[in-house]
Amino acid sequence: CGIVGFTGKQQAAPILLDGLSKLEYRGYDSAGIAVRDGEKDTEVIKAKGRLRILAEKTNGGESVPGMCGIGHTRWATHGEPSERNAHPHISNDGNVIAVHNGIIENYQELKEKLLRKGYSFYSSTDTEVAVNLVAYYYKKYGESPVEAVRHAMVRIRGSYALALMFRDYPEEIFAARKDSPMILGVEDGESYIASDVPAILKYTRNVYYIGNQELACVKKGEITFYNLDGEEIEKEPKVIEWDA
Ligand code: GLU
Repeated sequence: CGIVGFTGKQQAAPILLDGLSKLEYRGYDSAGIAVRDGEKDTEVIKAKGRLRILAEKTNGGESVPGMCGIGHTRWATHGEPSERNAHPHISNDGNVIAVHNGIIENYQELKEKLLRKGYSFYSSTDTEVAVNLVAYYYKKYGESPVEAVRHAMVRIRGSYALALMFRDYPEEIFAARKDSPMILGVEDGESYIASDVPAILKYTRNVYYIGNQELACVKKGEITFYNLDGEEIEKEPKVIEWDA
């Protein structure tokens, strides 16, 4: 339901929690964040219920150090509201962690394919299927995040805004979108991702709109966009003039 992502020179968790709180008006049943501290393993913390519970669990974000992360407030469509079904979700091999807004319509078919390949699932979400599909293509297509996400996008039917982190790319976030809103922002060597403008308005007014079936590689202060063929596309930022 709500997505926030950050990679930069400040602590990510407080920015993620703050951004998610600006999206609370949309409603949600659970929340979670994934934060990466350099080369260390990504920490994933989730909570059912109010965002305040997640904030308390992480001491306002302070107990989860790291300058790169993604966060989510979930409005369950597949699987009951629970901590297990809350995002972020992680792939079997631990290579991919992601948050997702929207609905993967053919998730059952994709899940069966992955089950045949030996994948297992801890949640009942469509999102966990998408995450493992990306992980599957990551192995298959030369461990390239853009190739992996692109191939998953070709196979997935439905709607999605996805923010993904790859184990081999500690400071980067990858984003993909189809029929679910998502924006990206850059300010002073730092980058932001959000499902809606209010989440990041406090931090930047320079916003890029990612088009339908486009993807992006988000580095600190630098975003590269690609189309579904994996070709780079040029975008100019738009300046947001209004106040939240
Ligand atoms: N379909 C996903 C789920 O049920 C995402 C829901 C959302 O947009 O929050 O977990």
